[in-house]
Amino acid sequence: MKVSTILETAKIEKRTIFSFEIVPPLRGGDVQNIYRAVEPLMEFNPPHINITYHRDEVEYRTTDAGVIKKIVTTKRPGSVALAAALMNRFKVEVVPHVVCAGATQYELENDLIDLNFMGIENVLALRGDPQPGEHGIFTPEAGGHRYACGLVKQIVAMNSGKYLDETLREATPTNFCTGVAGYPEKHYEAADAESDIEHLRAKVAAGADYIVTQMFFDNARFFDFVKHCRAAGITVPIIPGLKPISTVRHLETLPKTFNINIPEELVRAVEQAAKTDLRGGDSCSGGRLVNGGVSEPVSCNAAVRKAGVEWAIAQSRELIAHGVPAVHYYTMGKSDNIVEIARAVF
Ligand code: FAD
Repeated sequence: MKVSTILETAKIEKRTIFSFEIVPPLRGGDVQNIYRAVEPLMEFNPPHINITYHRDEVEYRTTDAGVIKKIVTTKRPGSVALAAALMNRFKVEVVPHVVCAGATQYELENDLIDLNFMGIENVLALRGDPQPGEHGIFTPEAGGHRYACGLVKQIVAMNSGKYLDETLREATPTNFCTGVAGYPEKHYEAADAESDIEHLRAKVAAGADYIVTQMFFDNARFFDFVKHCRAAGITVPIIPGLKPISTVRHLETLPKTFNINIPEELVRAVEQAAKTDLRGGDSCSGGRLVNGGVSEPVSCNAAVRKAGVEWAIAQSRELIAHGVPAVHYYTMGKSDNIVEIARAVF
């Protein structure tokens, strides 16, 4: 079933959908860990699961002979196969992410043909990010798409039986429902929020069926974003994306990686919790005070985790009260905190 149909049905039934995305294991990793992460989340009836896609990366490694060699690595392979495996194992719809970065239009078409053959009806169409060596400037593959909008157009064309080879006669139309990404705090490359929303409007005008947002920690930013999208004429469902903070390092890494802000109140709560963890707080087994009360660092972040979960629960409840169609959680491969949130909210 298409995500658009799932959302329409939920709207009629006045329900908010629980959904989440998972990241394929690192090369050589065990897929069983993914199944173990997904299993407890199935209790909350997610109608679909998103699977992220990770482009090839270029690395420079020094060989034993001292020669620097350029190596292309796929650190997280298997995203399409994982989508199919999850669909079969959990009898759930899957939404593989399809990414322009590093791919020609022809390669993207091949991937979409594979997905269509597997009976997958949903994709999230994304541009992807620059390679580490590209100094933050996205360079499309020769014969690839510069923007996600081009990919949306390609998918829409395939849905009407138009493949890249125009000499194909009576090519079978695909049947994809397409989601795209939106940024309540503006995408980092966009000159301003208005132009970013205009580009989002173009993706929807090209045929995107719904929007999933980048993570945010201040609901006011999401509500504002939705207001501006609606004013710009975007009418498709907008799904908020949430991630619970689970380590104190997230205070630094999440804003840097995703160009988002963390509200002062949450920063204070997490920093306070981190002190509790350092002291070996209540829920830290193994935490202890040494040298007459000086805390010994322990590898425990139970209090930080709890602060992150509580914040995400409050965010989720407020979003649901505002009638969002779904709440989408970024699991980053770990599900225990998402289970706690879902249990409190859904
Ligand atoms: P686009 O929509 O192409 O926008 C990119 C930038 O270009 C924006 O600043 C936009 O304003 C600007 N722009 C768009 N059109 C034009 C135009 N015509 N002229 C000038 N500027 C324009 N990345 C992955 O690699 N794998 C994933 O699985 C993945 N999943 C994601 C899931 C979600 C929900 C989100 C929010 C992001 C995800 N990303 C993923 C990250 C995403 O690839 C990056 O944020 C990327 O930098 C932008 O992707 P996009 O699809 O939003 O790009």
